[in-house]
Amino acid sequence: MEFKYDFNNVFAKILNKEIPNDTVIETKHSLAFKDINPVAPTHILVIPKGPYINYDHFISTANDEEIIDFNKTVNEVIKNKGLDPERNGSGYRLIVNTGLNGVQEVPHLHFHILGGRNLGFMVSSK
Ligand code: AMP
Repeated sequence: MEFKYDFNNVFAKILNKEIPNDTVIETKHSLAFKDINPVAPTHILVIPKGPYINYDHFISTANDEEIIDFNKTVNEVIKNKGLDPERNGSGYRLIVNTGLNGVQEVPHLHFHILGGRNLGFMVSSK
């Protein structure tokens, strides 16, 4: 499987510091930043710094250090924002829109972390 990464996508530009972002956490391999158009009181995006289009691309080609770093960064945001129900948080949702049916707008892997309100049903029925 060949993945064709678009180096001009908006998150590539954020990683290249061509456009600004509101950083929440930065690690060696990952960046967490606030979504520019939040749909919940907490709406944070976590991306790997490497050029990966989606989760399949990431898991099948990234090295273990990148994969561990990314997953720990997602968890770190959840903990830091007080969302984890096991730590008295009120819960959250992870969303990873992928491809056409997933309605992925930016072709660089990103996890949405949403919280701070009841997020309703999982998907629209239409
Ligand atoms: P998706 O539909 O899953 O690809 O979502 C892309 C997300 O990126 C949307 O929620 C946008 O609001 C967000 N977004 C686009 N441009 C920026 C930006 N420059 N900084 C932060 N978030 C952005």
